Amino acid sequence: MKTKRILLKSRPKGMPDESNFQLEEQELKGPENGELLLKALYISVDPYMRGRMSDAKSYVPPYELYKPITGGVVAEVLESRNDKYTTGDVVMGNLPWETYNISNGKGLTKVDPDVAPLSYHLGLLGMPGLTAYCGLLYIGDPKPGETVVVSGAAGAVGTVVGQIAKLKGCRVVGIAGSDDKIDFLTKELGFDEGINYKATDNIKEALEHACPDGVDVYFDNVGGPISDAVYSLLNKFARIAICGQIAYYNATSPPTGLRVEPILLKKSCLMKGFIVSDYADKFGDAAKDLVSWLREGKLQYEETITDGFENLPEAFLGLFKGENTGKQLVKVAEPSKK
Ligand code: NAP
Repeated sequence: MKTKRILLKSRPKGMPDESNFQLEEQELKGPENGELLLKALYISVDPYMRGRMSDAKSYVPPYELYKPITGGVVAEVLESRNDKYTTGDVVMGNLPWETYNISNGKGLTKVDPDVAPLSYHLGLLGMPGLTAYCGLLYIGDPKPGETVVVSGAAGAVGTVVGQIAKLKGCRVVGIAGSDDKIDFLTKELGFDEGINYKATDNIKEALEHACPDGVDVYFDNVGGPISDAVYSLLNKFARIAICGQIAYYNATSPPTGLRVEPILLKKSCLMKGFIVSDYADKFGDAAKDLVSWLREGKLQYEETITDGFENLPEAFLGLFKGENTGKQLVKVAEPSKK
C-alpha cells in the first residue's frame, strides 16, 4: 500500500513557509512480526516544531532534512502483529507525518475512546493540557483572589490555563490577538478581562486597567513586548511561569528588551522556565483532574480542526499568524466503522 508523507525540505530562516515542506508518496511494506500498521486520524501541529526545523541545539533534537516531520498523532491500528495491540485499537504517540505508518509499538499509548473525543488526547488531555495544568499549578501556585495574567490566552495552552485559574478562584486576564478571541475568552470561558494586543496601542495601560490590584501570577506563552508590559505590574512575591516565547521563534537576531532582573529582585518574584516533561511524575494527577473537570462541565475545550493531510504545513504556519482558537489539529481520516 502507499502512504503520503511530509518531509522537512529546507530549514527556514525567519518565518517558515510552504516551501520548507515536501509532500510525497511512498510504498509501505509490512507489518512484520512485532509491528503494527497504523492509520493516522488526527495530527497535532505545535509551536515547538518551529524550533526543530532549525538545527540549533535545544531540548529536542532538530528534524532531519528529507525525513518526515514528527509530532503528536492519534492513529488507529489497522493490522497488528504485536501482542500488545489488536486491530481497531486507537493509539497515541510521537509519530511521523504519514497517512499510514509501520510502527514497532514503542512509545505508543492506547487511547480509551470512551473518555473523551479522540482528538482531545492531543490537546486538553495531551501535551498542551498537561502543560497548562503543571505550569500554572506547580509554578504559578495561584491562590483565591489573586490576579492571573495569561498571554497567548486563546490558544491550546492558554485557554486551559485561564479556566483552571478561574476554578482556583482567581481574577483572570487573557491577552490574545483578535476581538473574536477576546469575546470567546470573556463570554464563553469566563475570563474576567481580555486584551487584544493587536488593537491596543498601549498594552501597559490596558493591563493597568484590567489588573487594578497588580499581577500575582503571569503565565507566559509569548514573551516580547507583551511580557515587558506585564512585568511592570508584578506584585510582591509574584510567580512567572515561562511556558513559551513564540514572539521569538522566527527571530533572525537575538531578542532584546527590558532587563527584568531588577523587578524580580525588588518584588521578590519567582520566574521559572519549564518543559512539560519536567513534571512527568505529576501527569497522572493532572490527567485525573482534567478529565473530572471536563466531565463535570467545569472546563470547556476548543479546537480548530483543519481537514486533510496535505494541509498540515498550512495549519502549522497558521499558528504564527494567530489563525487558531484553542488547539490546532489536522484531521486526516475517520476511524473505521466497527
Ligand atoms: P497556541 O497558543 O494554540 O498557538 C499559538 C498562538 O500564539 C497563536 O494562535 C497566536 O495567537 C499566538 N502568537 C503567534 N505569534 C505571536 C506573537 N509574535 N506574539 C504573540 N502571540 C503570538 O499554541 P500552544 O500549543 O497553546 O502553545 C502556546 C505556547 O506554549 C507556545 O509558545 C508553545 O511553544 C508553548 N508550549 C510550551 C510547552 C512547554 O513544555 N514549555 C508545551 C506546550 C506549549 P494570537 O492570535 O493571540 O496572536
